Amino acid sequence: MQEHVNSESENQPSPKQSGPKVLYNTRLPLFHQTQQPTTFVNDKANGFAPPPPPPPARLFASDIFASPKLALTPVESLYIHVPFCFHKCHYCDFYSIVDTRDRQKAFTDRLCNELRALSPYAGKIKTIFVGGGTPSLLRVDLWHDLLACLSDAFDLSEIHANKALPPAQRDTEFTVECNPETVTTELFDTLNAGGVDRISLGAQSFHPQHLKTLERWHDPANVGKAVQMARAAGFARVSIDLIFAIPGQTVDEWRADLLTALALGTDHVSCYNLTYEANTAMTARLKKGEFEPIDEDTEIAMYHATWQALRGAGMRRYEVSNYAFAGQESRHNLAYWRQSQWLAAGPSASAHVAGVRWKNLPRLDDYLDIQRDGTSAVMDAEWPDATRALRERIMTGLRLAEGLDSERLTAQAEGVCPGSARRLESRIALHAQQGNVVPEAENRAENKLRRWVLTDSGVLMADAIAANLMDALRQGPIRQV
Ligand code: SF4
Repeated sequence: MQEHVNSESENQPSPKQSGPKVLYNTRLPLFHQTQQPTTFVNDKANGFAPPPPPPPARLFASDIFASPKLALTPVESLYIHVPFCFHKCHYCDFYSIVDTRDRQKAFTDRLCNELRALSPYAGKIKTIFVGGGTPSLLRVDLWHDLLACLSDAFDLSEIHANKALPPAQRDTEFTVECNPETVTTELFDTLNAGGVDRISLGAQSFHPQHLKTLERWHDPANVGKAVQMARAAGFARVSIDLIFAIPGQTVDEWRADLLTALALGTDHVSCYNLTYEANTAMTARLKKGEFEPIDEDTEIAMYHATWQALRGAGMRRYEVSNYAFAGQESRHNLAYWRQSQWLAAGPSASAHVAGVRWKNLPRLDDYLDIQRDGTSAVMDAEWPDATRALRERIMTGLRLAEGLDSERLTAQAEGVCPGSARRLESRIALHAQQGNVVPEAENRAENKLRRWVLTDSGVLMADAIAANLMDALRQGPIRQV
């Protein structure tokens, strides 16, 4: 699943003018709901220069790696996209196809081919995330093939060695997304033996009527069974995904979902508000008037219920939509939000290496058919651009509880857009006055590096705050990079 942020218009009202109902969309266009970035900052919508023309139809990842412009450093993170699902959920706009087991073998062979082609660009791998789609739908014999390929092609020694450490001491992670309906002891044993140390379960809701609204097919009782099965197989790290603001859902029902997830003993919870993406069945049903979306006051109450329930249990909001006990934060997703590098394999998978972002063609047929040197045909590519990188850092950094490193950001901003450091500082001071950013004095008092951190009320309008800060980069001369 995937995250999206609303596009910010040039004339975005200030957060104060917008009032408390400017909700932060926890689904960000940069990110898969499992935080896999899939699209790019929308320069046009943000009032910047028009985006560059699309890359040639046959641009391949190998072309990108061959570019003399790139100063490659070994990549430590890897995303793998498995596109199969057994049913298309109505809210879903991620690339997935209803499982055709006859193509799973061809897909896995092709994926291993791509992974081998990408491996020269990797150093010691620290994090892997297998998302989709529904990776747990892949046949166990094919999981054996995939895990063997990963071990042969990449250096997973740190991932394997760290499995012996308590979870909080691991700086590595190997996560596989699973549907509670499709996991088996055999699958979990296979994953565990292959180095996987974290399972992410898509629960979405524990209320059958809300799963029905989402057209999500699983029995809520199987989530608990899947957690128990994962623990029995030796997984010390289990995360649960939930969705709120489902039409007809009450705040009490949402709170009950959170408490159920906690009672199951999960150590990490991702909470995404339902958004209506173009070209989904859910949006078509909304337009036909089949249901009313949740009103903003209820949605805000759901955010507050989330903070109360999860903090009450000892979890911390370390990212806008992600909560964890200390040491259980997702290392892989933090790599996305901190603008690190990652390789990516599979249809529609997105990568970020040496400042370049690219995305594989999404269709499975294209993925199977088109290849050169093992790497995939690329649908979108963005070359390094200092201003875009700053905007991305603002968008992603504001999502994190650790906030933005303001001294580094302002220094770099001044380098590409003279005058922007002062504009950023003054805008942040205003947001702090309005109670949406932790006052700088508090960070200083704790003798921390100076950082810009959103308060809870700031989180509710983080889209607007991010747009306001990005706008500070646009004024004045922008040096072309
Ligand atoms: S399980 Fe549902 S939400 Fe997840 S990728 Fe498949 S269709 Fe989309």
